[in-house]
Amino acid sequence: MNAERVPVLMYHRVGEMHNHWEEKYCVSPQRFAEHMHALVQANWQAVSIEDFMAWRQGQHALPEKSFLISFDDGFRGVHEHAWPVLRQYRWPAVMFLVSHLIGQEDVWSKNENPGGRTYPLLNEAEITEMTQGGFSFHGHSRRHWDLTSLNEAELADETAGCKAELERLGIPCRYFAYPYGRFGEREAAAVMSAGFEAAFSVQPGFNRPGGDAFRIRRLDIFGTDTAAMLLRKISLGSNDGRFMTWAGYYFKQLQGRLGL
Ligand SMILES: [Zn+2]
Repeated sequence: MNAERVPVLMYHRVGEMHNHWEEKYCVSPQRFAEHMHALVQANWQAVSIEDFMAWRQGQHALPEKSFLISFDDGFRGVHEHAWPVLRQYRWPAVMFLVSHLIGQEDVWSKNENPGGRTYPLLNEAEITEMTQGGFSFHGHSRRHWDLTSLNEAELADETAGCKAELERLGIPCRYFAYPYGRFGEREAAAVMSAGFEAAFSVQPGFNRPGGDAFRIRRLDIFGTDTAAMLLRKISLGSNDGRFMTWAGYYFKQLQGRLGL
């Protein structure tokens, strides 16, 4: 049976946390392993971005409980801590890279977390290695600037420039994730005219075949999410995985089934 709706999980860094701000963007290695284990136990199955895209276009069937794992920014901690777990389950994943900062650090985080640290981003050799082991790499701008704050020339550089930079490294770059999830009509149009085929937002919810290719929905997974919270988020298609939200959702479904 073909899946009617497919959730996309969004992770950022996997590693150790050093201050409270990072909790939203960093999952500890142990917690990441717990998340993946819980998904396996609950019969979820990670699919590749290629299969997900073909499913969106109605060209490929996916089983129920299929989902896509995405990582934004390109942190080296994903290579170190998440990739070994994913390999164990033979699960593919997609990562969105900041093309101008490959092999450097997430300097843009300083704006939001001025007292915090910066962390290393993947280098070319690590990207090549992961490509051979189930990862697909796509674009997340050149410098991780907020696209909505840019003039036309800068916007073109952050989108088309990102694609060109990644393609020069031999990365076939077809999809984009908006930095900070910030975009409107103008930014979506720029991503499209840069030659990207689809773009990922941070708007929560499930994806269904035929939806807007430049507004793909994703669920935000936080460092504070327990495995139980993650399972509620992925079954609800919501960033709100609190127990009462989940219980209310299933109660309503039950009422509907009983015709109450
Ligand atoms: Zn980002």
